[in-house]
Amino acid sequence: MYQNELSNNSVISTNHIICWSGGKDSTATVILFHEHEKELLKPGDKVTILFVEVMYDLKRNISGHNPDIIDFIYEKKKIFESWGYNVEILRSKDKDFLTNFYHKLTRSPDPERVGKTYGFVSSSSICAIRKDCKLKPMNEWNKLHANDNQVQYVGIALDEPKRLESLHKQPDRASLLEKYGYTEDMAMELCRKYDMVSPQYFLPGNQMRDGCWFCPNCKFFESKNIYERMPDIWEEYVALEDTPNLAYPKWNCYSKETLKERDLRVKGLYKQYSIFDYITQ
Ligand code: SF4
Repeated sequence: MYQNELSNNSVISTNHIICWSGGKDSTATVILFHEHEKELLKPGDKVTILFVEVMYDLKRNISGHNPDIIDFIYEKKKIFESWGYNVEILRSKDKDFLTNFYHKLTRSPDPERVGKTYGFVSSSSICAIRKDCKLKPMNEWNKLHANDNQVQYVGIALDEPKRLESLHKQPDRASLLEKYGYTEDMAMELCRKYDMVSPQYFLPGNQMRDGCWFCPNCKFFESKNIYERMPDIWEEYVALEDTPNLAYPKWNCYSKETLKERDLRVKGLYKQYSIFDYITQ
């Protein structure tokens, strides 16, 4: 199924590519591959695990991912390498949150924004960080390494029928969770068995995501964790709100809360936590 057989009985090797975010579904996919290697791997096949790291500041090597999650990624990378897999952590060569923040907007549907300093992530649906810092490094890697005999495994579970439906339309993609009958809960159980549960699942209210900590989707306890783990960077980030003439001055396009107000909340100066901190932004 994953290998092309030639008429003379020789075989073409397959590149197995696993897209890994560190979350339970993609981590369980790597584990399932490992457990079913005998069935999936043929002589000459290669296995590559790809993780794309978005950076807050490339020059100072400051990740855009929560430090606990990025530590988890580098720790588990070593285990996957010990299983014989090539693990690549891809990064943009020249783009990060700060380059995006400080660049001057030369085009915009809103003429008032042209010429201004870009500012914060304007919306998670048209996220420039995603385009420049996630998709571009992935596309560049694909251009260099992709061939006709590759399978890309995506962590989509049995109980995600809509996502599976769109996956089935892409002939070079597959879900091992589907193939081996794993729901999302079972994927988590498998991660527990291998001690590979990402710290993203341990924050109160499951508030840590595997995305960037400067994302408009960033939840309260995620911000608090960044303040506790990287206080200087957090202060620097909050101060960006004072930058004059920003095309996108709001750090969070989904909330009325300013960054200064969130700063006070994470420092416990604004008010005591309420139930809403656990369930809202
Ligand atoms: S996590 Fe948020 S900021 Fe980061 S790439 Fe995704 S949408 Fe953009």
